Amino acid sequence: MFKRVLVTGGAGFIGSAVVRKLVGVGTPCVVNVDALTYAGNLDSLLTVEQSPSYHFVHLDIADGDALGDVFANYRPEAVMHLAAESHVDRSIDTPAQFVRTNVDGTRMLLEVSTRYWRDLGSAEGSRFRFLHVSTDEVYGSVGAGVEADERARYAPNSPYAATKAAADHLVRAWHHTYGLPVVTTNCSNNFGPFQFPEKLIPHVILQALSGKPIPLYGDGKHIRDWIFVDDHVDALRAVLERGRIGEVYNIGARCRRDNLTVIRGLCVLLDELRPREGRGSYVQLIRQVDDRPGHDRRYAIDSTRIETELGWKAVEPFERGLRKTVEWYLVNQWWWDRVLNGSYRLERIGLEV
Ligand code: NAD
Repeated sequence: MFKRVLVTGGAGFIGSAVVRKLVGVGTPCVVNVDALTYAGNLDSLLTVEQSPSYHFVHLDIADGDALGDVFANYRPEAVMHLAAESHVDRSIDTPAQFVRTNVDGTRMLLEVSTRYWRDLGSAEGSRFRFLHVSTDEVYGSVGAGVEADERARYAPNSPYAATKAAADHLVRAWHHTYGLPVVTTNCSNNFGPFQFPEKLIPHVILQALSGKPIPLYGDGKHIRDWIFVDDHVDALRAVLERGRIGEVYNIGARCRRDNLTVIRGLCVLLDELRPREGRGSYVQLIRQVDDRPGHDRRYAIDSTRIETELGWKAVEPFERGLRKTVEWYLVNQWWWDRVLNGSYRLERIGLEV
């Protein structure tokens, strides 16, 4: 087990699950560096913030000097890089921010990591790992019956996917050119507690609960490959601990559902758990809207390599994970109320370290 782990983007949806897990399993030092963009939320870390092993540093990964200080102060044995702009719709409206963080921010993190790693002694240096967390969207849309494995052609279609693909290539290049001990993961669509309400599943839940229309892009037949966030976190830990240097691991749960099926499933769960008194099913709130430009039709990832080589396998069935997620949003209204009314951000103005 790595004793000192630096997590970038640890205030985000997946990053906070990583941080909670690392602290929970007794990692002696977990350093969360996060710029606290609109998507970063320290409320997601309330259960660990008092832990002596948890440290938070408010910084932008594009700030090399500040990053250098963090490496010098905390001497990480491993980096888990999750900081990113992550929402496809936003990348269509503001691609520049995606290039800045996902490409240039990753480049800066690689440079600082490489400088730090080169100064380590041989024992520490050979143990050091840089885990880059990426997405299956780099492979673009795959045809019916096809699964993308690690050799699949890169064909990113959205600005988000293109910037993640660029970052993947930089990470690969830093390994081949400078020898940095990297591993990369490409994971499918995550869902679960603490996900920012702009993403499909929480968005549907919160629209439904407030009686507002539930938007359905196009014909609703776009297929996503879903994975419960805790399974992703366990996969990342397996890759960090046991993955081969320079290797890429796809992560998925072989759980393909079209958007309409997911949205209907959520409505049925809400009908059971929070019925609309006398107003019928939540399904009646579903409204077709214009499709997202360039919307990929189907994602499907082949995770045979991580399963056979590292012995990891997703354990959460989709329907059970969906139920857990809906129950979490019903019980934790305090969390999403503060996101929706902005108070989770206002309180952090002036926040440092
Ligand atoms: P998120 O948007 O919830 O969180 C991103 C975090 O990064 C936020 O806390 C934000 O404040 C931080 N951040 C953004 N720009 C930063 C910067 N310049 N410097 C420092 N911190 C910055 O994202 P997520 O869904 O948790 O995704 C985490 C990672 O996993 C991303 O790299 C994403 O590409 C990848 N990924 C996500 C999914 C998914 O389904 N959500 C699937 C596969 C891979």
